[in-house]
Amino acid sequence: MALTIALAGNPNSGKTTLFNALTGSNQFVGNWPGVTVEKKEGRLKGYKDVSLIDLPGIYSLSPYSLEEVIARDYLLEEKPGVILNIIDGTNLERNLFLTTQLLDMGIPVVAAVNMIDVVNKTGDEINLAELGKILGCEAVGVSALKGTGVREAAQAAIRAAGKKQGPSPCRFSCKVGEALDKIGVLLGDRVSGDLRRFSALKVFERDARLMEKIPLPQAEALILEVEKTLEDDSQSIITEERYGFIGEIIPRVLKKKRRGALTLSDKIDKVVTNRFLALPVFAAVIFLIYFVSVTTVGAWVTDWTNDGLFGDGFHITGGAAYGEAARAFAESGAGEEPAPEDFGLWVPGIPALIGGALRAIGTADWLNGLILDGIVAGVGAVLGFVPQMLVLFFFLASLEACGYMARIAFILDRVFRRFGLSGRSFIPMLISTGCGIPGVMASRTIENQMDRRMTIMTTTFMPCGAKLPIIALISGSVLGGVWWVAPSAYFLGIFSVVVSGLILKKTRMFAGDASPFVMELPAYHFPAPGNVLRSMGERAWSFMRKAGSIILVSAALVWFLSGFGFTEDGFGMVEDLREGLLAGIGGAIAWIFAPLGFGTWEAAVATLTGLVAKENVVGTMGVLYGFAEVAEDGQQMWEAFAANFTAISAYAFLAFNLLCAPCFAAIGAIKREMNNAKWTLFALSYQTVYAYCTALIIYQLGSFFAGGVFTAGTIAGFAAPALLVFLLVRKSGGKPKPRDAEA
Ligand code: GDP
Repeated sequence: MALTIALAGNPNSGKTTLFNALTGSNQFVGNWPGVTVEKKEGRLKGYKDVSLIDLPGIYSLSPYSLEEVIARDYLLEEKPGVILNIIDGTNLERNLFLTTQLLDMGIPVVAAVNMIDVVNKTGDEINLAELGKILGCEAVGVSALKGTGVREAAQAAIRAAGKKQGPSPCRFSCKVGEALDKIGVLLGDRVSGDLRRFSALKVFERDARLMEKIPLPQAEALILEVEKTLEDDSQSIITEERYGFIGEIIPRVLKKKRRGALTLSDKIDKVVTNRFLALPVFAAVIFLIYFVSVTTVGAWVTDWTNDGLFGDGFHITGGAAYGEAARAFAESGAGEEPAPEDFGLWVPGIPALIGGALRAIGTADWLNGLILDGIVAGVGAVLGFVPQMLVLFFFLASLEACGYMARIAFILDRVFRRFGLSGRSFIPMLISTGCGIPGVMASRTIENQMDRRMTIMTTTFMPCGAKLPIIALISGSVLGGVWWVAPSAYFLGIFSVVVSGLILKKTRMFAGDASPFVMELPAYHFPAPGNVLRSMGERAWSFMRKAGSIILVSAALVWFLSGFGFTEDGFGMVEDLREGLLAGIGGAIAWIFAPLGFGTWEAAVATLTGLVAKENVVGTMGVLYGFAEVAEDGQQMWEAFAANFTAISAYAFLAFNLLCAPCFAAIGAIKREMNNAKWTLFALSYQTVYAYCTALIIYQLGSFFAGGVFTAGTIAGFAAPALLVFLLVRKSGGKPKPRDAEA
C-alpha cells in the first residue's frame, strides 16, 4: 500500500536539505491550492510506493500564519501515514515545542534529530534513546547535510507507519488536565478518538478555526475558571505548560559539554547583530551583492544575452579587434564602417539566425514580423533577464541558507513594520532599483503571505534601470537638465512605497496583522551548494515558465496593434507606427491623461508601449516625433518633444510612467508570485490608480501654484491629496479577514 511521509519541522531546521537527501531528483514543486506557499512532493529514493510531502516550516500548529494553517489542515484532513519531525538538535528546546503538538495529532511520529554533526562537534551529547522513550516515538540522529542517519530515519518512519501513536507524553497541571478531560467528554463523538486530545486542547485555546467547525459554547465556563485560577489566558497557559514539560526533559536528554560557552555562531552574531556594527555590516553585504549582481557580473551577462544572443550577435574571438576598428571608424569617419562578422569568430544572434532561415524559406512579411518582432523579441525579453536573476538568486539563496537573511529581517523589521512591510521587504526593493522582475521574485524569501503580497504590490514603485531613460529624457529636454530630477524619482519611489504600505495596511485585506512576531535566529551554517543551486534553478525556471507565457502573448499583441492598421488599401500591415491600431487606441484614450497634463495621443501610445518594456517609452517618443534612431538621453528630441509639454506636465508624465503598472515582464513576475489572478489585477489596478492620483496632484496643484489659474481640475488636484490623507489616517478598515479564509 502506498505510504505518505509528512515532513514537519521549524523553519531552518534542515527540512529542505533532508527532503532533497531523501528524494534526490524525484521531486515535484507546486503550490498549495490557491495560495502562494510552495508545495514540494517527492518519492522516497529506493522505494516505489513511499512518497514524501514537505510541509511548510512552522513553529507551532496554531493558525497564526498561513503556513501553520496549511500544515495543520494537511495533517488533519489528509492524515499522512507518519510524520517525520525534523528537530534542530542545536536548538532542542524551541524545536520540541512543535514536537509536543505533533504528538497530539494521533498520527505516528518519528523524531529526526538533525544537525547531529554540529551537536557532536561542540561536544554536547543528545541521548536519543532516552528522548525516544520520553516522547513515545523513535528518535534518530541525523545529519541531513552529511547524509548520516538519513536512511535510518526514513526506515524508522516506514516502520512506525501503521502503528498506533501512544498518548502524548506532555502532561498538563491538574487544573488544566481536568478541564481538558471535561472538554473531551463534551466533544463526545463529534471528533474521532485519535483527535480528541488535539481538539480538546484547541477548544481550550479558543482556536478560531476549530470553533468554527465544532462550536462548543459549553466549554467557555470551564476555560474561564482555569484562566481565573491561573491568572493567565488559556493560550499562554498551554504554551507555558508545554515549555515546562520541555524544560523537564531537556536535562535528561542533553548533556552540554561547556555550559554557557559561546558557540562560533554566537561569536559571529556578537559582531553582525551588534548595536553599532549591524547596519554597517549589513550595508556592506548588500552593497557587495548589489554590485555583483546588478552592476557587474549580472549586468555583463544580461547585456550579452540582450545585445549578443538576442541581439545582432557576439564574438567568440576577435571582439577586441572589432572594437578597435569600430572606434577608429567613429573617430575618423573615413573608409567603410567595419562589420562585426569580418572579425574573428562571430556568432550571429538568434533573431539574425531565425531571420535568415525565414528568408531562406521565403515566408510572408507579416509572418516574419510576428515571429521576429513578436515572438523572438518577446522570448528574448524574458530570457534576457534570466542570467541576472540567476546571479542574484544565487546570492539570495546563499544568504538564506547560511542564516544571515534571518538576521537582516531581524535588524530591519522594527523600521519596516511601521509601514506595514516586513524586514525582508528591503531586499526586493533594493533589487527593484536594478530591475523589478528579480525584485518581485525576491519577495519569495518573505514567509508571511500578507507581507509578501504587500511587498510585491509596492516594490516596482522603485525606479528600475529601464525607467532611467525616461528620467533622462524629461530632465534633459524639458527641465533643462536640472540635477534634482533623478534623485526626486527615487524619492518618489520610496515615498510611494511608504504611503502605500500605510494605506494598504488600513484596508480589510491587509488588516489585523496580529500574528506575534516569532523569529528564531538559526545558527550560521555553511550553505550546501546543492541546495543553493537547486533553489536558484527553481526560481529562474518558474519565472520562465509562468511569466514567459504572459509576456509572449502581450508582446505579440502589442506588435500586432502597432504594426497593423487601416490604410487606403484596407486592413493590413502599416509602415508607420502612426497609422497602426495602437495609434488609434492612443487617440481614443488620450482624454484619460488630459487631467494629468499630457492628453496627447503620442504620450498615450508611449505609455502603452511602456508596458512592453519601459525603455520603449523613450523609443516610441522618438519614432512619433520623427527620429528613427534616438539616443537614450533624448538629445535629438528636445525641441519637438518639449513643445508638447510644460515643465509640470512633463514631470507628471514622468511620475505616471514611473509608478503605474510595470512592464509585462514584471507583470508576469507579479502574476507568478501572487499565484492568483484576482490579486494580480488588484496590484496592477492599485499601482495605476495610485500613479494617476500622484500625477494628478503634481500637474493640477503644480499648475495652480505656478500660474494661479483655478479650474475644475484644480478641485480634483486638491481632492486627491485629501483622499490620500484620509486613507492614511482613517481607522483600520473593519474586521480583519481571517487569514485562513483565503481562497
Ligand atoms: P529549512 O529551512 O528547514 O528547509 O532548512 P535548510 O534545509 O535550508 O537548512 C538550513 C541550513 O542548515 C542550511 O544552510 C543547511 O545547509 C544547514 N543544514 C541542514 N542540515 C544540516 C546538518 O545536518 N548539519 C549541518 N551542519 N548543517 C545543516
